[in-house]
Amino acid sequence: MAHSTRYTGRFAPSPTGPLHAGSLVAALASWLDAHSHGGQWLVRLEDVDVPRCIPGMDHVILQQLAACGLHPDAPPVWQSQRTHHYQQALEQLVALDLAYPCACSRKDIEAALQLAGAEKPRHGELVYPGTCRHGLHGKAGRAWRLRTDRSVSKWPFPHAGRAQAAINSIASETPFIDWCDRRLGAQRQDVAHAVGDFVIQRADGLFAYQLAVVVDDAAQGITHVVRGEDLCDNTARQILLQQYLGLPTPQYLHTPLVHGDNGEKLSKQNGAQALDTSTPLAAAQSLCRAAQVLALPASPPPATAEALRHAQAQWLETWAQRYP
Ligand SMILES: [Zn+2]
Repeated sequence: MAHSTRYTGRFAPSPTGPLHAGSLVAALASWLDAHSHGGQWLVRLEDVDVPRCIPGMDHVILQQLAACGLHPDAPPVWQSQRTHHYQQALEQLVALDLAYPCACSRKDIEAALQLAGAEKPRHGELVYPGTCRHGLHGKAGRAWRLRTDRSVSKWPFPHAGRAQAAINSIASETPFIDWCDRRLGAQRQDVAHAVGDFVIQRADGLFAYQLAVVVDDAAQGITHVVRGEDLCDNTARQILLQQYLGLPTPQYLHTPLVHGDNGEKLSKQNGAQALDTSTPLAAAQSLCRAAQVLALPASPPPATAEALRHAQAQWLETWAQRYP
């Protein structure tokens, strides 16, 4: 896969509900940043978690984006059609002994954590204690987990002799993942301790979000990821996967979240209202509100095209300068 180094950005919604005010902020910011860099902007429908997706919602989202004047520069991609790519990545990780099967239920994990003088769950997720790392305990493997206690030094050849190069450069030490967010600055995570060996293929056979995103960002030649701050915590895991798979790491910019009246972050889970794009004026007003969240001063625009032009000029003067 040869890619030019031209700026390529993306917006990657999950069709689990319509776009809301918060998701439009991420869509607009990624569109503005791509256009400010003379780059291209792609849309990827992250429907890898099939049971959570709502049939037809992908088209609702695409219509909402179109109503806001946010048109992708290439046909959208659906993750549900890319399973074989995730399977290949999993096989590559297994071949390098960087992934292993896990038979633990949530109960097993809780019990193991308790025995070990357990740490509290982080973001509601249990830090996996590594029970199956050295062989399955009893039952057959259900899920596949990524080993987080390896570090891979720079790949000597980006896309050739991968497997051998990896074996030579894998060190058995717990790595810190250090990265720099364009807005939030230097970030560091000890993935092994903060998250533990995480699931890359679930017990039900579906591939995990983390693996799918990393494989797709590389396949689509994404150079810049602009997304909501709620996804910031995933970045270290994704960089670790990129390193294990010999894939490039994009630049990251995490944008502020939109909070509802109750002070909670707007999300589909807490019933955020669908974006009103029923009329050109409603769409323009939605864009205007999204621009305000990004501190792009906006006056009520008559049409989406003008709202976008205005936001674009503001973005160039503010974000593009401040967070190059
Ligand atoms: Zn296990």
